Amino acid sequence: MPIGLLINHWNPAPWLKMLRKRMGDSEVYLYPDLPEDVSVEFLACWRPESGQLSHYPDLQVIQNLGAGVDAMFEADDFPASAKVSRIVDPDLTHDMYEHALACILYWMKNFAEYEADRATRSWRRLAYQRMRETTVGVLGLGELGAYTAMRLAQQGFEVMGWSRSSKQLDGVQDLQGEEGLRTILAKADYIINLLPLTDHTRGILDAQFFALCQSSAVIINVGRGGHLEERDLQEALDAGKIRAASLDVFVTEPLPQEHPLWVHPKVHVTPHVASFSNPETAADQVVENYQRYLAGKPLLHRVDIDKQY
Ligand code: NAP
Repeated sequence: MPIGLLINHWNPAPWLKMLRKRMGDSEVYLYPDLPEDVSVEFLACWRPESGQLSHYPDLQVIQNLGAGVDAMFEADDFPASAKVSRIVDPDLTHDMYEHALACILYWMKNFAEYEADRATRSWRRLAYQRMRETTVGVLGLGELGAYTAMRLAQQGFEVMGWSRSSKQLDGVQDLQGEEGLRTILAKADYIINLLPLTDHTRGILDAQFFALCQSSAVIINVGRGGHLEERDLQEALDAGKIRAASLDVFVTEPLPQEHPLWVHPKVHVTPHVASFSNPETAADQVVENYQRYLAGKPLLHRVDIDKQY
């Protein structure tokens, strides 16, 4: 039985190559290629668009090729009975920590201000913060958030984390609920969003949220664009309610040419590159899950469809 491969927004070629290397050429079909007599029950997939999943009427397992599964649930033909798994990969996790650390240091050492000063050749020395004087709030303590929080704590930052269930993470003060979030926002210099996009977290970074932050706070959104109310962010920045933002994800990607966030002086933009799955390592996980499916064994890294993550 072959694997189906459906990829939007990324180049499918490396995935096709890696999967075919492990499975054989005739065992992997790239969307929309599918001979009439071939049935696909296991689909490796990234950001399906509405109408594409119904191309596979026999679908039993959807193997998401990244960590975030929100796009899957947004497809209006998502088959409710399908099992969903996602990629959990040490490189993906570590890369996210490195990106978050780079964003913190960018603002902590005033690089944005010095870059602006270069335009006027201004020699202006600003006070900087040290890691040990800096508090980081990490929203979401899952695969990526827990690792990022612990590594930042090891670097010497004071780290507070937010999740639904309580955790024991070295060096991380973990809080829950609305009260927990308020406590973090009242203290954090940097707020890293690593929540999954669900019905509960959509639009969480809004005016009400920014009103609870310190005026020195920097928002680092590496979760999803749907977490952020972009207009509220611009108003909070312009009113000095928060200091700055590093944004890697956007409601519309690529970020449209005319979008004001491209040129906002207090915003640092990256094109959804904080961390991405490496087909070379992730293909092994896809094939392992496929073999588990065939053998009737539990799948690795199952997504809880009710929780949406
Ligand atoms: P995960 O393992 O599913 O963890 C999610 C975490 O969020 C868990 O700790 C969970 O709490 C917490 N959470 C969920 N809903 C919550 C709520 N309503 N209130 C408080 N906490 C809540 O996810 P992950 O693998 O770490 O990935 C996180 C997200 O990062 C992905 O969903 C994706 O959107 C994003 N991402 C971005 C990039 C990029 O390049 N920018 C790359 C990869 C992933 P419990 O532990 O208590 O369940």
